[in-house]
Amino acid sequence: MAVNKSIHEKLTELASNLWWSWQPEVSELFRQIDPIRWSALSHNPIVLLQEYDPHRLEERARELVLHSRINAAYRRWHEYMSSSDTWGDTHAGVLGHRPIAYFSAEFGIHESLRIYSGGLGILSGDHLKSASDLGIPMVAIGLFYRKGYFTQLVDEQGWQQEEYSLADPDLLPMTEVTQPDGTPLLVHVETRHGQIYARVWLVECGRVPLYLLDSDVEENTPEDRQLTAQLYGGNQRMRIRQELLLGVGGVRALAALGVHPRVIHMNEGHSAFASLEVIRMRMGVDGLSFEDALRETAASGTFTTHTPVPAGHDRFDGGLMEEHLGPLRDALGLDYEGFLGLGRVDPHNHGETFCMTVLAFKTSRRANAVSNLHGVVSRRMWQHLWPYRSEEEVPVGHITNGVHVPTWLAQQMRVLYDRVLPVSWHTRSGEPEVWRGFEDVPSLEVWETHQSLKNRLIVYARKRLLQQAERYGSSREVQERLQQVLDPQHLLIGFARRFAPYKRADLVMQDLDLLERIVNDADCPVQFIFAGKAHPADDHGKQIMQRIVQLSRDARFGGRIVFLEDYDINLGRHLVQGVDVWLNNPRRPLEASGTSGQKVVLNGGLNLSVLDGWWAEAFDGKNGFAIGNGLIHSNQEVQDQRDAADLINVLQNEVIPLYYTRNHDDLPLEWIARMKRAVRTLGWRFNADRMVMDYVTSAYIPAAGSTSCEMRVIP
Ligand SMILES: *Cc1c(COP(=O)(O)O)cnc(C)c1O
Repeated sequence: MAVNKSIHEKLTELASNLWWSWQPEVSELFRQIDPIRWSALSHNPIVLLQEYDPHRLEERARELVLHSRINAAYRRWHEYMSSSDTWGDTHAGVLGHRPIAYFSAEFGIHESLRIYSGGLGILSGDHLKSASDLGIPMVAIGLFYRKGYFTQLVDEQGWQQEEYSLADPDLLPMTEVTQPDGTPLLVHVETRHGQIYARVWLVECGRVPLYLLDSDVEENTPEDRQLTAQLYGGNQRMRIRQELLLGVGGVRALAALGVHPRVIHMNEGHSAFASLEVIRMRMGVDGLSFEDALRETAASGTFTTHTPVPAGHDRFDGGLMEEHLGPLRDALGLDYEGFLGLGRVDPHNHGETFCMTVLAFKTSRRANAVSNLHGVVSRRMWQHLWPYRSEEEVPVGHITNGVHVPTWLAQQMRVLYDRVLPVSWHTRSGEPEVWRGFEDVPSLEVWETHQSLKNRLIVYARKRLLQQAERYGSSREVQERLQQVLDPQHLLIGFARRFAPYKRADLVMQDLDLLERIVNDADCPVQFIFAGKAHPADDHGKQIMQRIVQLSRDARFGGRIVFLEDYDINLGRHLVQGVDVWLNNPRRPLEASGTSGQKVVLNGGLNLSVLDGWWAEAFDGKNGFAIGNGLIHSNQEVQDQRDAADLINVLQNEVIPLYYTRNHDDLPLEWIARMKRAVRTLGWRFNADRMVMDYVTSAYIPAAGSTSCEMRVIP
């Protein structure tokens, strides 16, 4: 580590690895250099640093007295990267140096790298960060979507408009992967009608390298150059071609890089073609039969299913399959129907389309859902794959999702944690004992910390509203009114998620007169912030969103219902850190886990949720609020009516009274007790360190141990 590097060099190095994004001190350094540009540039330090030449940056750093902090950050980064006393060194040594290969169609690591749409992406990003922190040998594979997911704008009618902009790799923390001779690495996958090529980018996420395949290369047809441009865009044909690149191309990229994964971890069916390519390689390299290669590949594979919603499980017809997987099928020595059978519940049912989730189940011996309840639902849903087993015996377990604490925890809260939790809490956040101290924090302090975060959210929301209004050319008067919306002394409820209809964003609006009375109650008013995107092809979702936008513009709700455009990681961070209550009311049991509510817990907010996903195993009666009793009515309309009534009921009879019951110091003591209880009982369980540790012990180590070509080590 050269001491004589310039400030510019050191900061550029820090900016090149996304580790900085979960180090509040480092992002604070970037921010201080130029607060206005920092927020205008979507918190992208690479662009920020390009705006400064080394000399000017040196001066700026001197002016702000940043040198010692920059040096300390730089030193800490090197220590992190070379540390050899991690949890993984102690508990996962048997994994050796051959990594886990983590496949996902999206990764949400930081707002400046827009290759995610929602929950799956954020979860994948959090998984990599925790694997890096814990020192688990891992590489990750995804696609580089140049246009990313869309930017959301809302028009005069409240209808969602989608805008796509082109990302420039030079301005992102990514480098093109080259071959030993310096030429760019190019992988290709053959179809019946020619090859698809992709280059490979490397994004460094702490110690975990993330490789992104990108089809925008000269060798491709103009159509294929656009193949990886958008996330979840296009038709079935585009979809299968993307998945071919992700799975088959991903495995080939790793092979070309000399990376020989010990375990393949497929997330959702999107990447399931990876198994087929591994099987092909094993047949070629080790001379195995298809059956033996399948058995061995499955033994070292693990599959996570992330949703019970049918649209989340890709299906392709025989024609698309043959066009794209035909050459691979030949190499595997399978006939047409035999091959399609790998993606059918009943291999002999020629009427069944090829399902990627089925392929993933059949080519990995271990599979898990993402919450306890989702495990139950998944076993029922996929029971037909194991016709001789009862539902309870279906081999799909669960590992409940968690969130990466340093990413989602507000700085002020972290200061509180630092004071009351053991010094080592950062590296031991998956252990329950570590969190016990939180109950001892004085109530006043918890409340003041929370209030300051809530104020910050309100300031941020007003700023965003003003930007929206300026874009519409709203009148001065409207703009001034927007600067008055939301009151920090009033109960604030947040709701932000994709506007998939099953999430029922408008459930609280079933009876508008009633809602109006609740919102405008003279003594106990209630405020809402909504945010979220609808899938571009989902008109129903857009209608739900439109309804909310229109209410937010309705004078009856006088600045107490707010809609913020373009939900992304940055907006998400502000929301989960500043709301009093996080509302979640999906149609049970369709929310596999949900993670946004877990982020809220860490920051002292309370969950108000249907007993679905993670909340079904988290709620203990006193660490938040439950909507309904977890029963499901067979008639969907009845269910929706019942849940809407339960929601209003718990709001009026529990949430609102508890929030507004104050002691002589104006503190809601009972409420604060719930905040503390939530942090203590939930913080350790629903965090990504615990989640990754569970994957290591119950999926990665067993899968690594059953790879025959490696020495078998029993942990
Ligand atoms: C956490 C998060 C999600 C996922 O949260 P859910 O509870 O599954 O809705 C989606 N989008 C963003 C931006 C997030 O931060």
